[in-house]
Amino acid sequence: MPEVTSWGRLRRVPHEVSRPAFLDAARAAASSNGAPLLCFGMGRSYGDVCLNENGRLIVTDMLDRILLFDRERGVLRAEAGLTIDRLLRVAVPQGWFAPVVPGTKFITLGGAVANDVHGKNHESVGTFGSHVLALGLARSSGEVLTLSREENSELFAATVGGLGLTGVILWVELQLKRIASAMVDTETFAIANLDQFFRLAQESGEWPYTVAWVDCLAKGTATGRGFFIRGRHAETGGLSVHGGPRLGVPFNAPGGLLNAYTIGLFNTLYRHRPFVLGVKQVHYDPFCFPLDAVARWNRLYGPRGFFQHQSAVPMARAFETLRRLLELTAAFGEGSFLIVLKLFGDIPSPGILSFPLPGATLALDFPNKGESTRRLLDDMTEVVLSAGGRLYPAKDATMSGEAFRAGYPAWRKVEAQRDPAMMSDFWRRVTAEAA
Ligand SMILES: Cc1cc2nc3c(=O)[nH]c(=O)nc-3n(C[C@H](O)[C@H](O)[C@H](O)COP(=O)(O)OP(=O)(O)OC[C@H]3O[C@@H](n4cnc5c(N)ncnc54)[C@H](O)[C@@H]3O)c2cc1C
Repeated sequence: MPEVTSWGRLRRVPHEVSRPAFLDAARAAASSNGAPLLCFGMGRSYGDVCLNENGRLIVTDMLDRILLFDRERGVLRAEAGLTIDRLLRVAVPQGWFAPVVPGTKFITLGGAVANDVHGKNHESVGTFGSHVLALGLARSSGEVLTLSREENSELFAATVGGLGLTGVILWVELQLKRIASAMVDTETFAIANLDQFFRLAQESGEWPYTVAWVDCLAKGTATGRGFFIRGRHAETGGLSVHGGPRLGVPFNAPGGLLNAYTIGLFNTLYRHRPFVLGVKQVHYDPFCFPLDAVARWNRLYGPRGFFQHQSAVPMARAFETLRRLLELTAAFGEGSFLIVLKLFGDIPSPGILSFPLPGATLALDFPNKGESTRRLLDDMTEVVLSAGGRLYPAKDATMSGEAFRAGYPAWRKVEAQRDPAMMSDFWRRVTAEAA
């Protein structure tokens, strides 16, 4: 059986893989008998939500046709394997943009729905699912259902952020966002600490996109030192689309190129990049997807792969919790190549298991050093849970069932709507010992 891995490259897992090229073939795969079933988009989830060991995996990359594009109203319906990359190539020249994009454009619409992804504009527009008008879902019973807020609304709420467990998403209909230009007006600030992060984030109401990149080695009063970047779609500059990645990593870095030394160096360089400070107009591609400039950068962590911790904590406990998490990371000393910090807004997510909650979110990568890294992740999880927060399943490879159920008390509603044929390694892990 072919082995499949996810973005964190922690495990290579055998699957019975199929790659339907047409929706009727995907429907047939959904209702055929056999081992437990799961869909796989671009595998940009870091852990095991897109893995299903020894089970069947429907890879959706051939299901990428645009079925309808109303260029007046910005309504686009496409097969679930369409990537944001391709969507933008078609939509941007027409003056439309995806309403929500994560930090990479190499994800599918099906994956964006199943994890109900968020972007740098969460505070002003909510999650991806908030812009989904309707979905087509194939169930193992052979039924094909249309889901929306009005039609099969409970199944809609279970499917948005439903981790691919309610059936095979065949197509997604989306409301796009009008843009006058492919350029983004940006302002970048050097921030000295977490106080400044919170102040700037709260003062940036006129800027739909906000994010901070933080120095993982800063300690004490400098905890949270880094850059705060805010942006909004520009009014001028043309509607040019993005190009391909400029650099690639063709093989595994032996032993992992990203060690404490290189990470420290990176963070120092990043902090002192003189050209980022100030006001500037940039193309949406480097602004929204800076990491896409290096294809397969995940290989830099070496053959053992890497973990990501991404958590969300309620606003009332956000400051002290972020400080504690950053302190734990700095003390660990292994560094984190990337630390991303941002606030989430209070637009309710449409999905029962959607990750964002009103408050702050922190995302950090760690090279896999075995037991010591897992212990750190466990310690961080404890800090998050004790603040009433939760971890993001799309990024997770280690949380216990207890931690998942504490963060997502409504999980049984999704379990009740789960298609009995569908399963993932993640779901097996976090529901295993639940009574
Ligand atoms: C560099 C980078 C930056 C990122 N930044 C962000 C970010 O800012 N915000 C954010 O929210 N996420 C972010 N992510 C995570 C990523 O957006 C999500 O993991 C996304 O869901 C991946 O989509 P995919 O198409 O690769 O799906 P996969 O990872 O392959 O699958 C994800 C889930 O979707 C399900 N699925 C896929 N297709 C279907 C289908 N047709 N029907 C039913 N279920 C399906 C799978 O079963 C699985 O449960 C980032 C990831 C990377 C690598």
